[in-house]
Amino acid sequence: MARDPRFDILFEPVTIGPKTARNRFYQVPHCTGMGRGWPRTLAAMRGVKAEGGWAVVNTEYCSIDRTSDDTPYPYARLWDEEDLRANALMVEAVREHGSLAGVELWHGGSSIANLASREPPFDLQSLPARGDPIQSRKLDAQDIRDLRRWHRQAAERAYRAGFDVVYVYATHGYLLHNFLLGPMNDRRDEYGGCLENRARIVAELVEETREATKGECAVAVRFTGSHSPGGFGPEPDEIRDMLAHLGPLADLWDLVCDDYGMEMGHSRFVDEGVHADWLAEARGLVGKPVVSVGRYTTPDAMATLIRRGAVDFIGAARPSIADPFLPNKIEAGEPERIRECIGCNICYAFDTRGAPIRCTQNPTMGEEGRRGWHPERVPARGSDRSILIVGGGPAGLEAACTLGRRGYDVVLAEASNTLGGRAGREARLPGLSTWARVRDYRLEQLTRLSNVETYLESPLDAAAIRDLGHPVVALATGARWRRDGMGRWFHAPVPALEGDEGLYTPDDLMGEGGADILSGGPVAIFDDDQHYMASVLAEMIRKTGRAVTLITTAGRACAWGAHTEEDFRTNARLIELGVEIVPNRAVSAFAGGVVETRCIFTDRAASMAAPNLVLVTSRAPEDGLYHELTAAPDALAEAGIGQVARIGDALAPGLIAHAVHGGHRFAREIDDAVVPILMEAPD
Ligand code: ADP
Ligand code: SF4
Repeated sequence: MARDPRFDILFEPVTIGPKTARNRFYQVPHCTGMGRGWPRTLAAMRGVKAEGGWAVVNTEYCSIDRTSDDTPYPYARLWDEEDLRANALMVEAVREHGSLAGVELWHGGSSIANLASREPPFDLQSLPARGDPIQSRKLDAQDIRDLRRWHRQAAERAYRAGFDVVYVYATHGYLLHNFLLGPMNDRRDEYGGCLENRARIVAELVEETREATKGECAVAVRFTGSHSPGGFGPEPDEIRDMLAHLGPLADLWDLVCDDYGMEMGHSRFVDEGVHADWLAEARGLVGKPVVSVGRYTTPDAMATLIRRGAVDFIGAARPSIADPFLPNKIEAGEPERIRECIGCNICYAFDTRGAPIRCTQNPTMGEEGRRGWHPERVPARGSDRSILIVGGGPAGLEAACTLGRRGYDVVLAEASNTLGGRAGREARLPGLSTWARVRDYRLEQLTRLSNVETYLESPLDAAAIRDLGHPVVALATGARWRRDGMGRWFHAPVPALEGDEGLYTPDDLMGEGGADILSGGPVAIFDDDQHYMASVLAEMIRKTGRAVTLITTAGRACAWGAHTEEDFRTNARLIELGVEIVPNRAVSAFAGGVVETRCIFTDRAASMAAPNLVLVTSRAPEDGLYHELTAAPDALAEAGIGQVARIGDALAPGLIAHAVHGGHRFAREIDDAVVPILMEAPD
């Protein structure tokens, strides 16, 4: 199929200084949870992005010196020749596909604690590190000279590693950014005071980077282009003046806003295209090519943004993670095949857990090198065995699609009258509508897979599965929310919680009746899950006018959402809605409309009146069929069934990302095609 001419504009080459990008698709620097510790895994992932059509592919934040050490978070490094060789792997993988490789040189200032190097952090002021009880020391003139030297040396290594684009990173609250801020920068020398002085370090580093790279690399600046209320950047007028002042110096401007929760906002709170309004003005001020992000997944929105003159490049982190082949799919005239990002920020979450990147929509993300999984190509089937998949949620759908693409004959049986499982159910909750993309991307694939037969309203029991007699059976039967209080806090069912009238689980509330199944009085929600479910239910119920109290064993609502940039806005929204949040307590009993809670520190009891209690604790795998089938191996053999597997939540309840990965893995590894995972040794 040919590309739609409306999208030709996206494929125009763009010149940035001495380099030319072959199109307008630009993967901005984004963390991967791999950094310096996983160079081959990382190179393979970045290479796949280039193969998929991204004309510029960048590293994550790349430290220039030991005084910028973000342990335990995985970050890239260009400290020495060994680091140079590690980065060269990525450069080679990207250039192999005709794309430009970029590196984001970085110094963390007071944000970081230098836990590994034990160098005292330094910054414009002595400030506490983000997560540790250490303060930076106040820098002096020698530190500025050192900073310039390290930056120059790192740029020189970047040049020798083969990078095409080298960044000066002056935003996100890191060291260079803090020079720009009047209230923080109280220097009385040529680096403090007037705007030109505060911006001097950025101007110098741009020039010195250009010299260190012999004028052969494009020099990019990542900079705050817009101020938000409560944001960390300079005031709006100052931003404008700085952009005008520094604009001509750089070859490319990578513009962000000064609220990270907005820039990479969770889709519960932030829509696509969040920067669109201010970019055109900023672009006019710098007079150079501009890139910015906005979680764009459709070519119409992208082409409109370019035509409006807002940007020269469509910047993407998340859309390029969810679909590394997004540009090629548009080019091939198949935008309907794009695997659209759902904005869940699971890709970001595992960086803060120190683990390699993963994605809800794209199970191959991070597995390109270490498992050899390509996002678009799968090996041909290894046998002619037909496969029965029971359950059409994320795990079952992903398995069916991947097996179908491999050429296997597949039967997918779903008990309900619709496919999608929890992705479809949860998509009806407040703020989670993008979850439906997990289902819809796979339904689109099924339309093109004639070897996958789908049966709705087909609940299967063990006898029916044996009667069907497919040699391979995958049970993707999901999980149900527990009704007995067992979870993170209670490791066994809590008899005082079971069975009382007025007790509900998220599954009840996700049914047709929604919040109407509750009685009219106040509602207590026990959140021992600590992710999004309790807070979206609280929002849904509160909007019906009922009083809602969210009782959590954590210190705040949606505590795990700290990893997904979700907790801050969740708590703000619940407070604004009038939901009472009761932290650090467990619900221990419920009877006669009285909810008993206990302090997690002192076990001191308290009670509140509420005729409704919603338990959001943990989920029990729906694995009864698995145990029934495998308990009778002779009957299985007689039915010609040689393999029975559990996949997704039926095996181990988790994130949708876990279920999709589990379904994909099953489909890849069937017929014993298991490839041992390459575990690179992190530093
Ligand atoms: P996962 O996230 O692991 O894919 P879900 O809970 O989202 O799990 O989906 C499980 C799906 O399996 C649901 O759509 C459910 O209706 C279906 N299912 C459960 N048991 C059966 C069964 N015995 N026969 C057919 N479908 C089933
Ligand atoms: Fe998008 Fe979620 Fe994948 Fe991140 S993990 S790229 S937010 S779908």
